[in-house]
Amino acid sequence: MSILVVGSVAFDSVKTPFGEREHILGGAAMYFSVAASFFADVRLVGVVGDDFSAEHEAVFKERRIDISDLERVKGQRSFHWKGEYGFDLNVARTLDTQLNVFADFKPKLSNVARQANYLFLANIQPALQREVRQQLNPRIVAADTMNYWIENDRKELLETLKGVDLLIINEAEARELAGEANLLKASRRILTMGPSRLIVKRGEYGAVMFSDSSYFAIPAYPLEDVFDPTGAGDSFAGGLMGYLAATNASDEAAMRRAVIYGSVMASFNVEEFGVDRLRRLSHEEIDERFKTIKEMTHFGDSDAPRRSFLAGD
Ligand code: AMP
Repeated sequence: MSILVVGSVAFDSVKTPFGEREHILGGAAMYFSVAASFFADVRLVGVVGDDFSAEHEAVFKERRIDISDLERVKGQRSFHWKGEYGFDLNVARTLDTQLNVFADFKPKLSNVARQANYLFLANIQPALQREVRQQLNPRIVAADTMNYWIENDRKELLETLKGVDLLIINEAEARELAGEANLLKASRRILTMGPSRLIVKRGEYGAVMFSDSSYFAIPAYPLEDVFDPTGAGDSFAGGLMGYLAATNASDEAAMRRAVIYGSVMASFNVEEFGVDRLRRLSHEEIDERFKTIKEMTHFGDSDAPRRSFLAGD
Protein backbone atom coordinates (compact mmCIF):
# COMPACT_ATOMS: atom_id res chain seq x y z
CA MET A 1 0.00 0.00 0.00
CA SER A 2 1.29 3.46 -0.78
CA ILE A 3 1.46 6.59 1.33
CA LEU A 4 1.08 10.18 0.19
CA VAL A 5 2.41 13.00 2.34
CA VAL A 6 1.90 16.70 1.86
CA GLY A 7 3.89 19.23 3.84
CA SER A 8 7.10 21.17 4.17
CA VAL A 9 10.48 20.30 2.71
CA ALA A 10 12.65 22.91 4.33
CA PHE A 11 16.03 24.14 5.39
CA ASP A 12 16.40 24.39 9.14
CA SER A 13 18.84 26.26 11.36
CA VAL A 14 18.76 24.49 14.69
CA LYS A 15 20.43 25.14 18.02
CA THR A 16 20.29 22.71 20.94
CA PRO A 17 22.36 22.64 24.15
CA PHE A 18 24.63 20.14 22.34
CA GLY A 19 25.48 22.07 19.20
CA GLU A 20 24.04 23.85 16.21
CA ARG A 21 23.60 23.39 12.48
CA GLU A 22 22.83 25.95 9.79
CA HIS A 23 20.65 25.34 6.79
CA ILE A 24 20.30 21.58 7.02
CA LEU A 25 17.63 19.64 5.16
CA GLY A 26 14.44 19.55 7.24
CA GLY A 27 10.70 19.95 6.93
CA ALA A 28 7.85 17.90 8.27
CA ALA A 29 7.21 16.02 5.01
CA MET A 30 10.91 15.20 4.67
CA TYR A 31 11.15 13.65 8.17
CA PHE A 32 7.85 11.83 7.70
CA SER A 33 8.74 10.35 4.33
CA VAL A 34 12.21 9.17 5.31
CA ALA A 35 10.80 7.39 8.40
CA ALA A 36 7.82 5.88 6.52
CA SER A 37 10.04 4.71 3.65
CA PHE A 38 11.44 1.92 5.84
CA PHE A 39 8.00 0.28 5.72
CA ALA A 40 6.15 1.27 2.54
CA ASP A 41 6.20 3.22 -0.76
CA VAL A 42 6.03 6.95 -0.14
CA ARG A 43 5.18 9.82 -2.46
CA LEU A 44 5.72 13.43 -1.44
CA VAL A 45 3.80 16.55 -2.45
CA GLY A 46 5.51 19.82 -1.59
CA VAL A 47 7.50 22.72 -2.93
CA VAL A 48 11.17 23.77 -2.89
CA GLY A 49 13.26 26.55 -4.38
CA ASP A 50 16.61 26.85 -6.19
CA ASP A 51 18.55 25.99 -3.05
CA PHE A 52 17.30 22.38 -3.22
CA SER A 53 20.20 20.66 -4.99
CA ALA A 54 21.18 17.19 -6.18
CA GLU A 55 22.74 16.55 -2.79
CA HIS A 56 19.34 17.08 -1.09
CA GLU A 57 17.53 15.13 -3.75
CA ALA A 58 19.83 12.19 -3.00
CA VAL A 59 18.32 11.86 0.50
CA PHE A 60 14.95 11.03 -1.09
CA LYS A 61 16.39 8.96 -3.93
CA GLU A 62 18.37 6.68 -1.61
CA ARG A 63 15.16 5.91 0.31
CA ARG A 64 13.23 5.47 -2.97
CA ILE A 65 10.80 8.23 -2.03
CA ASP A 66 8.92 9.44 -5.07
CA ILE A 67 9.39 13.19 -5.39
CA SER A 68 7.94 13.67 -8.85
CA ASP A 69 5.17 15.76 -7.21
CA LEU A 70 7.72 17.97 -5.44
CA GLU A 71 7.35 21.30 -7.23
CA ARG A 72 10.50 23.36 -7.93
CA VAL A 73 10.16 27.12 -8.11
CA LYS A 74 12.91 28.98 -9.98
CA GLY A 75 14.32 32.20 -8.55
CA GLN A 76 13.05 31.60 -5.02
CA ARG A 77 14.33 29.97 -1.86
CA SER A 78 12.84 27.03 0.04
CA PHE A 79 10.93 27.35 3.31
CA HIS A 80 13.32 28.16 6.16
CA TRP A 81 12.76 27.48 9.86
CA LYS A 82 15.08 28.59 12.62
CA GLY A 83 14.55 27.14 16.07
CA GLU A 84 16.20 26.63 19.40
CA TYR A 85 15.82 24.15 22.27
CA GLY A 86 16.85 24.61 25.88
CA PHE A 87 17.57 21.73 28.24
CA ASP A 88 13.88 20.86 28.10
CA LEU A 89 14.14 19.29 24.68
CA ASN A 90 10.37 18.85 24.51
CA VAL A 91 9.89 22.56 23.84
CA ALA A 92 11.06 24.18 20.59
CA ARG A 93 11.31 27.95 20.39
CA THR A 94 10.77 29.25 16.87
CA LEU A 95 13.17 32.14 16.20
CA ASP A 96 12.33 32.74 12.57
CA THR A 97 10.08 31.35 9.83
CA GLN A 98 10.60 32.35 6.20
CA LEU A 99 7.82 30.99 4.03
CA ASN A 100 9.55 31.79 0.69
CA VAL A 101 8.19 29.29 -1.90
CA PHE A 102 5.63 28.12 0.66
CA ALA A 103 3.78 31.46 0.62
CA ASP A 104 1.98 30.72 -2.67
CA PHE A 105 2.02 26.94 -2.47
CA LYS A 106 -0.95 25.21 -4.11
CA PRO A 107 -0.49 21.44 -3.87
CA LYS A 108 -0.77 19.78 -7.27
CA LEU A 109 -1.56 16.11 -7.17
CA SER A 110 -0.75 13.85 -10.11
CA ASN A 111 -3.12 11.02 -11.00
CA VAL A 112 -0.77 8.53 -9.35
CA ALA A 113 -0.75 10.58 -6.14
CA ARG A 114 -4.54 10.45 -6.04
CA GLN A 115 -4.40 6.65 -5.91
CA ALA A 116 -2.60 6.59 -2.53
CA ASN A 117 -4.23 4.44 0.15
CA TYR A 118 -2.77 6.31 3.12
CA LEU A 119 -2.51 10.06 3.44
CA PHE A 120 -0.54 12.15 5.92
CA LEU A 121 -1.35 15.84 6.12
CA ALA A 122 1.74 17.27 7.76
CA ASN A 123 1.58 20.57 9.60
CA ILE A 124 0.52 23.15 6.99
CA GLN A 125 -2.33 25.62 6.65
CA PRO A 126 -5.57 23.71 7.41
CA ALA A 127 -7.27 24.89 4.20
CA LEU A 128 -4.40 23.41 2.15
CA GLN A 129 -4.62 20.16 4.09
CA ARG A 130 -8.31 20.00 3.22
CA GLU A 131 -7.70 20.81 -0.43
CA VAL A 132 -5.42 17.77 -0.66
CA ARG A 133 -7.74 15.59 1.40
CA GLN A 134 -10.64 16.27 -0.95
CA GLN A 135 -8.70 15.07 -3.98
CA LEU A 136 -8.42 11.46 -2.88
CA ASN A 137 -10.24 8.80 -0.96
CA PRO A 138 -7.67 6.92 1.11
CA ARG A 139 -8.17 4.13 3.61
CA ILE A 140 -6.67 6.22 6.43
CA VAL A 141 -6.07 9.96 6.70
CA ALA A 142 -3.75 11.19 9.46
CA ALA A 143 -2.92 14.79 10.24
CA ASP A 144 -0.73 17.01 12.37
CA THR A 145 -1.20 20.67 13.21
CA MET A 146 0.35 23.27 15.49
CA ASN A 147 -0.57 25.97 18.04
CA TYR A 148 -0.39 28.69 15.37
CA TRP A 149 -3.31 27.19 13.40
CA ILE A 150 -5.25 26.31 16.55
CA GLU A 151 -5.04 29.94 17.64
CA ASN A 152 -5.28 31.78 14.31
CA ASP A 153 -7.18 29.53 11.92
CA ARG A 154 -9.47 27.53 14.17
CA LYS A 155 -12.53 27.54 11.93
CA GLU A 156 -10.61 26.12 8.95
CA LEU A 157 -8.87 23.61 11.19
CA LEU A 158 -12.17 22.31 12.60
CA GLU A 159 -13.48 21.92 9.04
CA THR A 160 -10.34 19.97 8.05
CA LEU A 161 -10.57 17.71 11.10
CA LYS A 162 -13.95 16.42 9.91
CA GLY A 163 -12.07 14.51 7.17
CA VAL A 164 -9.28 13.14 9.40
CA ASP A 165 -9.15 9.66 10.97
CA LEU A 166 -6.01 9.95 13.11
CA LEU A 167 -4.95 13.20 14.66
CA ILE A 168 -1.30 13.11 15.79
CA ILE A 169 -0.42 16.16 17.91
CA ASN A 170 1.53 17.02 21.03
CA GLU A 171 0.14 17.40 24.52
CA ALA A 172 -0.01 21.21 24.62
CA GLU A 173 -1.74 21.26 21.23
CA ALA A 174 -4.34 18.72 22.39
CA ARG A 175 -5.15 20.79 25.45
CA GLU A 176 -5.35 24.00 23.43
CA LEU A 177 -7.47 22.48 20.67
CA ALA A 178 -9.96 21.11 23.19
CA GLY A 179 -9.82 24.14 25.51
CA GLU A 180 -9.46 21.64 28.34
CA ALA A 181 -6.50 21.09 30.67
CA ASN A 182 -7.27 17.47 31.57
CA LEU A 183 -5.94 15.26 28.77
CA LEU A 184 -8.62 12.57 29.11
CA LYS A 185 -11.42 15.13 28.90
CA ALA A 186 -9.55 16.91 26.08
CA SER A 187 -9.36 13.64 24.13
CA ARG A 188 -13.11 13.07 24.48
CA ARG A 189 -13.80 16.50 23.09
CA ILE A 190 -11.36 16.07 20.18
CA LEU A 191 -12.90 12.70 19.30
CA THR A 192 -16.18 14.51 18.59
CA MET A 193 -14.44 16.76 16.02
CA GLY A 194 -13.92 14.06 13.36
CA PRO A 195 -10.92 11.84 14.17
CA SER A 196 -11.69 8.34 15.48
CA ARG A 197 -8.31 8.25 17.20
CA LEU A 198 -6.19 10.88 18.88
CA ILE A 199 -2.49 10.18 19.31
CA VAL A 200 -0.78 12.52 21.72
CA LYS A 201 3.02 12.82 21.48
CA ARG A 202 4.63 13.50 24.82
CA GLY A 203 8.30 13.87 23.82
CA GLU A 204 10.65 12.05 26.16
CA TYR A 205 7.62 10.76 28.14
CA GLY A 206 6.22 8.71 25.27
CA ALA A 207 2.82 8.76 23.62
CA VAL A 208 -0.84 8.09 24.39
CA MET A 209 -3.53 6.89 22.00
CA PHE A 210 -7.21 7.50 22.66
CA SER A 211 -10.30 6.17 20.92
CA ASP A 212 -13.93 6.01 22.08
CA SER A 213 -13.36 2.60 23.59
CA SER A 214 -9.62 2.33 24.29
CA TYR A 215 -6.63 3.95 25.92
CA PHE A 216 -3.02 2.98 25.23
CA ALA A 217 0.07 4.63 26.70
CA ILE A 218 3.73 3.87 26.08
CA PRO A 219 6.93 5.35 27.46
CA ALA A 220 9.55 6.69 25.06
CA TYR A 221 12.60 4.54 24.38
CA PRO A 222 15.09 5.64 27.06
CA LEU A 223 17.99 7.42 25.37
CA GLU A 224 21.16 8.78 26.90
CA ASP A 225 22.02 11.00 23.98
CA VAL A 226 19.39 13.23 22.47
CA PHE A 227 21.03 15.74 20.15
CA ASP A 228 18.23 17.28 18.14
CA PRO A 229 14.49 16.71 18.68
CA THR A 230 13.56 18.42 15.40
CA GLY A 231 11.39 16.13 13.32
CA ALA A 232 10.66 13.73 16.19
CA GLY A 233 6.91 14.23 15.73
CA ASP A 234 7.05 13.70 11.99
CA SER A 235 9.29 10.65 12.12
CA PHE A 236 6.87 9.28 14.75
CA ALA A 237 3.99 9.80 12.33
CA GLY A 238 6.11 8.24 9.55
CA GLY A 239 6.78 5.06 11.52
CA LEU A 240 3.12 4.83 12.55
CA MET A 241 1.65 5.32 9.08
CA GLY A 242 4.41 3.24 7.50
CA TYR A 243 3.48 0.26 9.66
CA LEU A 244 -0.25 0.65 8.94
CA ALA A 245 0.37 0.91 5.20
CA ALA A 246 2.72 -2.08 5.20
CA THR A 247 0.25 -4.32 7.06
CA ASN A 248 -2.99 -2.77 5.75
CA ALA A 249 -4.45 -3.33 9.22
CA SER A 250 -6.16 -0.87 11.53
CA ASP A 251 -7.56 -2.95 14.40
CA GLU A 252 -6.64 -2.04 17.98
CA ALA A 253 -3.64 -4.41 18.14
CA ALA A 254 -2.22 -3.09 14.85
CA MET A 255 -2.76 0.50 15.97
CA ARG A 256 -0.84 -0.20 19.18
CA ARG A 257 2.08 -1.72 17.27
CA ALA A 258 2.00 1.25 14.89
CA VAL A 259 2.36 3.64 17.85
CA ILE A 260 5.40 1.65 18.98
CA TYR A 261 6.98 1.79 15.51
CA GLY A 262 6.33 5.52 15.55
CA SER A 263 8.12 5.81 18.84
CA VAL A 264 11.03 3.67 17.58
CA MET A 265 11.54 5.87 14.50
CA ALA A 266 11.37 9.08 16.57
CA SER A 267 13.91 7.70 19.03
CA PHE A 268 16.45 7.13 16.25
CA ASN A 269 15.75 10.49 14.63
CA VAL A 270 16.65 12.52 17.73
CA GLU A 271 20.03 10.84 18.18
CA GLU A 272 21.71 13.09 15.60
CA PHE A 273 21.10 16.42 13.89
CA GLY A 274 18.68 16.52 10.97
CA VAL A 275 17.98 13.24 9.24
CA ASP A 276 21.55 11.88 9.55
CA ARG A 277 20.67 9.01 11.87
CA LEU A 278 17.69 7.82 9.82
CA ARG A 279 19.87 7.78 6.70
CA ARG A 280 22.15 5.21 8.34
CA LEU A 281 19.39 3.19 10.00
CA SER A 282 18.94 -0.54 9.36
CA HIS A 283 15.86 -2.77 9.66
CA GLU A 284 17.70 -4.86 12.25
CA GLU A 285 18.08 -1.80 14.47
CA ILE A 286 14.36 -1.04 14.13
CA ASP A 287 13.45 -4.64 15.08
CA GLU A 288 15.77 -4.59 18.07
CA ARG A 289 14.32 -1.38 19.49
CA PHE A 290 10.74 -2.60 18.95
CA LYS A 291 11.57 -5.73 20.98
CA THR A 292 13.20 -3.69 23.73
CA ILE A 293 10.12 -1.48 24.12
CA LYS A 294 7.95 -4.60 24.21
CA GLU A 295 10.06 -6.12 27.00
CA MET A 296 10.26 -2.78 28.83
CA THR A 297 6.48 -2.48 29.03
CA HIS A 298 5.61 -6.12 29.76
CA PHE A 299 4.92 -6.96 33.37
CA GLY A 300 3.17 -10.36 33.30
CA ASP A 301 0.04 -11.45 35.17
CA SER A 302 -0.39 -11.40 38.90
CA ASP A 303 -3.05 -11.02 41.57
CA ALA A 304 -2.14 -8.60 44.31
CA PRO A 305 -0.36 -10.51 47.12
CA ARG A 306 -2.53 -10.47 50.24
CA ARG A 307 -1.29 -9.86 53.71
CA SER A 308 -3.03 -12.18 56.12
CA PHE A 309 -4.24 -11.11 59.53
CA LEU A 310 -4.02 -13.66 62.31
CA ALA A 311 -6.73 -13.88 64.93
CA GLY A 312 -5.77 -11.85 67.97
CA ASP A 313 -3.60 -9.32 66.00
P1 AMP B 1 8.64 18.56 14.45
O1 AMP B 1 9.90 18.76 15.25
O2 AMP B 1 8.32 17.13 14.20
O3 AMP B 1 7.48 19.33 14.98
O4 AMP B 1 8.90 19.18 12.98
C1 AMP B 1 9.91 20.10 12.71
C2 AMP B 1 9.96 20.42 11.23
O5 AMP B 1 8.79 21.17 10.89
C3 AMP B 1 11.16 21.28 10.88
O6 AMP B 1 12.02 20.55 10.03
C4 AMP B 1 10.60 22.52 10.19
O7 AMP B 1 11.22 22.79 8.97
C5 AMP B 1 9.12 22.23 10.00
N1 AMP B 1 8.28 23.37 10.35
C6 AMP B 1 8.43 24.24 11.39
N2 AMP B 1 7.45 25.19 11.37
C7 AMP B 1 6.67 24.91 10.30
C8 AMP B 1 5.48 25.50 9.71
N3 AMP B 1 4.92 26.60 10.23
N4 AMP B 1 4.95 24.92 8.62
C9 AMP B 1 5.50 23.83 8.09
N5 AMP B 1 6.60 23.23 8.56
C10 AMP B 1 7.19 23.74 9.65
